[in-house]
Amino acid sequence: MSAVPLKNTDAAHDGVRGITVLGATGSIGDSTMDLLRAAPEKYRVEALTGNANVAGLAKLAKEFNARFVAVADPARLGELRAALAGTDIAYGAGESAVIEAASRPADWVMAAISGAAGLKPALAAVDRGATVALANKECLVCAGDFFMSRAVASGACILPADSEHNALFQALASGNRHELTRVIITASGGPFRTWSAADIEQATLAQALKHPNWSMGQKITIDSASMMNKGLEVIEASYLFALSPDEIDVLVHPQSIVHGMVEFADHSVVAQLGAPDMRIPIAHCLGWPDRIVGRAARLDLAKIGQLTFEAPDFERFPGLRLAYDALRAGNGATTVYNAANEIAVAAFIAQKIRFGAIARLVEDTLNGWIRAGNLAPLSSADDAIAVDHNARKMAATLLPQIAAKAS
Ligand code: NAD
Ligand code: MG
Repeated sequence: MSAVPLKNTDAAHDGVRGITVLGATGSIGDSTMDLLRAAPEKYRVEALTGNANVAGLAKLAKEFNARFVAVADPARLGELRAALAGTDIAYGAGESAVIEAASRPADWVMAAISGAAGLKPALAAVDRGATVALANKECLVCAGDFFMSRAVASGACILPADSEHNALFQALASGNRHELTRVIITASGGPFRTWSAADIEQATLAQALKHPNWSMGQKITIDSASMMNKGLEVIEASYLFALSPDEIDVLVHPQSIVHGMVEFADHSVVAQLGAPDMRIPIAHCLGWPDRIVGRAARLDLAKIGQLTFEAPDFERFPGLRLAYDALRAGNGATTVYNAANEIAVAAFIAQKIRFGAIARLVEDTLNGWIRAGNLAPLSSADDAIAVDHNARKMAATLLPQIAAKAS
């Protein structure tokens, strides 16, 4: 049984639905609020969360008349109290308040906190059997199969919000699961698609933050430049749809119009296309199993003219290869992959390591973890969080030697 529904059901939405947005102040949060804003009669906002941007969070809470607001940074409680003065919006601060936000009774929850920090809140929504639109791929990569089995146990419905996985979700509906032979997720190739390995090694933060097609948060933009994002997405696809690594292919497609494809036994390939705008997959999740009116630009293929495709280069983008290695190793290796990458990206942003060192830190952490005999199945959220924590420590220990080493 899968927590990701494979076919549309007949159940349509009537009445007003309760909505919670975890990570409301981020890029995905912003796109989600834009869709809610367009049809206020359909939605009631239960809870909103943010990390540190209290002013932005309070502004949204007032606009949508949210019932509860949580700021993750516990030091900002007073600031939030002041910002909400004169309203009857309940509020809290710290991780427990974010988890409370996820636990409150909303029918539909957008999980869009960035990084493994999103795991516990997403699980809180999953455990009460909510419909969870999952944008936060790191939490799935961190908790793996365990996350999906918790969803099956509680009856939660997981709707893939990441554009490639949403494309697969849509394409899968045209066949049966046992008829699937392969999925293909596309990658723009990022800003360094045509760069030499030597130039990628030396890339600056400003260069890494210039994504050719998508406007996104900082972490995922850097992950796109290293293609670690695609690695995370290969792992995400494996857990979401119970696919083996051999059933998942990556195809570089610089225009980012075709987001994902499913190949079936008869060798039909079904693709989903759309403008590179996250409001399209989010609208699909928000409307599901119905379709709602979109807010993104309609696709004009005549104007785009050409769609091109190329094979990914695992040599210049070793992060992608490492994702397959981690997936094959299993037993917490994908948790380590994600944790080491989070440490590496933070170190790159802080200008402690070169761009090329991101993948080296992930590789050395994975190898060190496996050599130390640390691979073991994850059977609880605490297991996943412990592996995440220890892998971060190992990555932080390896960081100085990676920083000192030239490529
Ligand atoms: P972002 O950095 O713009 O926003 C992240 C949100 O999480 C913000 O609301 C922030 O306040 C909150 N947050 C950050 N750290 C937190 C913490 N420790 N505790 C609680 N809240 C915290 O990121 P984004 O681009 O919106 O991405 C969010 C997630 O969605 C990521 O997992 C990303 O991989 C995924 N995703 C994003 C896109 C995109 O187009 N932006 C596409 C697909 C998937
Ligand atoms: Mg994606």
